[in-house]
Amino acid sequence: MVEYSQANSGVNMNKKGILIVFSGPSGVGKGTVLKKFINDENLKLSYSVSMTTRPKRNGEIEGINYFYVSKDEFKKAIDEQKLLEYAYFVGNYYGTPIDNVNRLLNEGKNVLLEIEVQGALQVMEKVKDALTIFIVPPSMEELEKRIRGRNTETEEVIKERLDKAKLEMTMLNKYKYVVCNDDPEKAALTISNIIKRSME
Ligand code: 5GP
Repeated sequence: MVEYSQANSGVNMNKKGILIVFSGPSGVGKGTVLKKFINDENLKLSYSVSMTTRPKRNGEIEGINYFYVSKDEFKKAIDEQKLLEYAYFVGNYYGTPIDNVNRLLNEGKNVLLEIEVQGALQVMEKVKDALTIFIVPPSMEELEKRIRGRNTETEEVIKERLDKAKLEMTMLNKYKYVVCNDDPEKAALTISNIIKRSME
């Protein structure tokens, strides 16, 4: 893994926008909640599109959901220090292209990274003033129901994602805010208010 120090993390610390880290276990409904606040103009949000080696799911679009790359291309991006953070998650690599983040922050946008915990910890190390939000399910039973209901993964992957979810839940105390997704509308409103307060 590439080592960065706070001084040369590659993130422009004089930027105008806020860097927002949005995490939560697989299946918690991050995408559903996100859709409810991402286009609120008052929040000036820009979604950071990640790079991944995971295959495209039905309905996903290159450059909108992810940049889909090979393992070799991903490794090249790591070597060339083009990623703000990256992680290996249930068989695939995921990472945040740094240039895009810097460009958007400089334009005054609040940049939202929807990333898992290992990557989030890397961002917390490098960007001390990042706004970090962890979204939790009402219960682990409900989470399992949601992961199974999505019907996009094999049983093996479902089990791995559930194990990972349990592990991720132990890290929520590292985040500045924890929001429960018992109702996506309510969760989205809570998050909007957190972002608005941080902009003041
Ligand atoms: P999925 O395969 O369900 O799209 O994503 C799996 C996990 O990877 C999710 O928890 C998602 O938040 C996370 N993820 C997506 N993009 C990134 C990224 O750029 N970096 C990291 N560390 N995690 C990511």
